[in-house]
Amino acid sequence: MAWFKKTRQRIAKAPKAASKIPEGLWVKCPSCAQAIYNKELIASQQVCPKCAHHFRMSALERLSMLFDLGAWTEHDSGLRSTDPLNFKGTKVYRQQLEASMKATGLKDAIICATGLLEGLPVVVAAMEYGFIGGSMNVVVGEKITRAAERALSDRQPFIIVSCSGGARMMEGAFSLMQMAKISAALGRLDRAGVPYISVLTDPTTGGVTASFAMLGDLNIAEPKALIGFAGPRVIEETIRQKLPEGFQRSEFLLEHGMIDVVVDRRELKATLGRTLRMMLGLGPATT
Ligand SMILES: [Zn+2]
Repeated sequence: MAWFKKTRQRIAKAPKAASKIPEGLWVKCPSCAQAIYNKELIASQQVCPKCAHHFRMSALERLSMLFDLGAWTEHDSGLRSTDPLNFKGTKVYRQQLEASMKATGLKDAIICATGLLEGLPVVVAAMEYGFIGGSMNVVVGEKITRAAERALSDRQPFIIVSCSGGARMMEGAFSLMQMAKISAALGRLDRAGVPYISVLTDPTTGGVTASFAMLGDLNIAEPKALIGFAGPRVIEETIRQKLPEGFQRSEFLLEHGMIDVVVDRRELKATLGRTLRMMLGLGPATT
């Protein structure tokens, strides 16, 4: 009986490959949940075109964005950690270092470079969150100090783009010492009248906030970046009070005088160029 039996062929399923969207073509915005075409996101400097959510940028992307024509000279790229404490926690630190080097292609959590920004010669240090949370260890500290010294000897403005969870506990006190070392180098820059601008991105916390990230002649934050010393949970447990809405975010910190200005990433390069020209007593750019 044909009524009870399916004599006709079943509808053929579409071949799998045809319905598959290639991976990485679309990105879902964590803030507005809209799907964004990846190329569009790259063109808008990793800022959601719909809600202006700022995605995290790698150090390489940051330098490509800031330097004219995406061209720069890297310095001290060979420095790597010696694991001074021979540290073993839940993970073996040496193995963690190896894995991070493989994942990022960097030797540690920062790239220091020189090049032109809006036609001005500058020194830029950009932190890499993908390398053990952008934490500051001996290598990061030494590279920033050398970059500051380079800025001083060449009398070129210095910019640090922070993106860090703070000091790296696997190098203990050696990491903490970097706070004083970098601050001293920035002090010398200050006395020589060479501008230093700090750019704080999401997240900038711990010993990085407690030292160089807050020492800029101008401290610029990206919108809604988490900036603080201790995390909100630790503070709530200590003071036994509920923290206000938006606590430790750029806009809240601007309102309370912790930072000088909040700048949309798409305006950042132009703002830096304009500000540096003003600080150096130069006229507006001619091009
Ligand atoms: Zn969005």
